[in-house]
Amino acid sequence: MKNYFVGAHVSAAGGVENAPLNAAKLGANAFALFTKNQRRWEAKPLTRGSIKKFRDNCERLGFAPEQVLPHDSYLINLGHPETEPLEKSRTAFIDELQRCEQLGLCYLNFHPGSHLRKTDEETCLRTIAESINIALDQTRGVSAVIENTAGQGSNLGNRFEQLGYIIDHVEDKSRVGICLDTCHTFASGYDLRDRSDCETTFAEFEQHVGFEFLKGMHLNDSKAEFASRKDRHHSLGMGEIGLEVFRYIMADDRFRGIPMVLETIDETIWAEEIQLLRSFSIQD
Ligand SMILES: [Zn+2]
Ligand SMILES: [Zn+2]
Repeated sequence: MKNYFVGAHVSAAGGVENAPLNAAKLGANAFALFTKNQRRWEAKPLTRGSIKKFRDNCERLGFAPEQVLPHDSYLINLGHPETEPLEKSRTAFIDELQRCEQLGLCYLNFHPGSHLRKTDEETCLRTIAESINIALDQTRGVSAVIENTAGQGSNLGNRFEQLGYIIDHVEDKSRVGICLDTCHTFASGYDLRDRSDCETTFAEFEQHVGFEFLKGMHLNDSKAEFASRKDRHHSLGMGEIGLEVFRYIMADDRFRGIPMVLETIDETIWAEEIQLLRSFSIQD
């Protein structure tokens, strides 16, 4: 049976090759990273030296591609209602996929997109699916992993039905997946506070999307209240969700074999949080 892969979104300052080193220091067996500055459109191509060091470090430290969940730039909106910014987003997204391909990785995690109140939800969801189709067509080996959102502003992807709708309109189902962020899930109105809430929420996910599409998790508590549609992460057990959902996930086989990544706010306790999560998986 596959392992639970647990880690954090680590820094790639000084070069992507540093991310696996930073993850190993935490005792992680998974990690997330940005392969370029997430707040800028432009980026220099990855150098051959950097790519080789990244691959060597991953191999030496035991990070297989399915244990790594790269995250794309926050500027990209694959559902943009206007032609020019949509084109810009699509070009940048293809570049992000190509970077992952060069690094030998198999996933790219991204936020689906936003209609900016200039078009209706369904049109936006179709635009997102079309963007994914275009990008997958021009790249190989990397899956597009859609993250559910808190539903803040006009961001789509907060309802499982919307995630299912996007997947339905993606041609290559073998290269599309979902990353569930526990903070976003809770903030968007799916309760996770106790066991029965978790059962109900993940049954809904199974019904509208399906666990075969689950390719990653972001493990975060929430500073914002239930159904607040606010995206505010907190350290595990310190927010509105509490620890029960993390006990639940770490004892459920459906969450094995995928990268599960902390994006919690205090990185000085990431190593402890990883240990805590591990301890939940070895309960009797
Ligand atoms: Zn994200
Ligand atoms: Zn997230």
